[in-house]
Amino acid sequence: MTRLALVTGGMGGLGEAICIKLAALGYQVVTTYSPGNTKVDEWLKLMKESGYDFHAYPCDVSDYESAQKCVAQIEKEMGPVDVLVNNAGITRDMTFKRMDKPNWDAVIGTNLDSVFNMTKPVCDGMVERGWGRIINISSVNGQKGAFGQTNYSAAKAGMHGFTKALALEVARKAVTVNTISPGYIGTKMVTAIPQDVLDTKIVPQIPMGRLGKPEEVAGLVAYLASDEAAFVTGANIAINGGQHMS
Ligand code: NDP
Repeated sequence: MTRLALVTGGMGGLGEAICIKLAALGYQVVTTYSPGNTKVDEWLKLMKESGYDFHAYPCDVSDYESAQKCVAQIEKEMGPVDVLVNNAGITRDMTFKRMDKPNWDAVIGTNLDSVFNMTKPVCDGMVERGWGRIINISSVNGQKGAFGQTNYSAAKAGMHGFTKALALEVARKAVTVNTISPGYIGTKMVTAIPQDVLDTKIVPQIPMGRLGKPEEVAGLVAYLASDEAAFVTGANIAINGGQHMS
């Protein structure tokens, strides 16, 4: 039986690695992209040339109606979602003194409301079928807070509460809900940070002395999605090169 995995933000650095890993393991992979993203056809072609036949649907994950419509279309065309990876996310970093309402709302909407918006239309089906995996991509900065990230740290910390509460509600039906908290991973979200800041401030905080690789996070997603991880639920798994231990 081929399982269907829905990965939000699959065209991003982590999302692409997650899609590739799950596809390599035999999942049918569907992803979402932001409406207005003009590079989707090019990306799908590139993936196809590399041997990955992904399906992609437009969805603004921060918008409830957009998410319901998107998942309904996916389930109609592709079948029920067995694995949901809530990966789409953004940052809008600034100190709290400068933090305005639009930048607060954008980050809470895309990183936290999205988890509700996407989980809502798939969760009941997982419960009815007696199997499901919900995997939320949080951040080390949701565990420990970060300067200039009141919005992002709040959104990512909110995921942990959501994960633990929902895990309790669906555990009896063999649906697991977990969070992964990556540290600094070498995607464009991180490589956009000026190189001197990376070299002098960020990498020195990481005991392993390097950024993480998207494939390392994808490996953890694959584990949580597997049957072997059936007894892991309500967990937050850190993957940060030793930067933060709790
Ligand atoms: P990227 O910026 O590379 O990718 C983010 C993805 O999110 C893009 O594919 C983008 O889609 C999608 N997205 C953004 N806004 C929306 C929206 N409103 N609706 C639908 N999709 C949207 O980031 P990463 O791959 O680095 O990050 C992925 C996740 O991992 C995020 O949740 C991030 O917070 C988290 N994370 C990343 C870390 C890192 O070091 N990179 C560390 C810790 C956590 P599109 O391209 O179509 O706009």
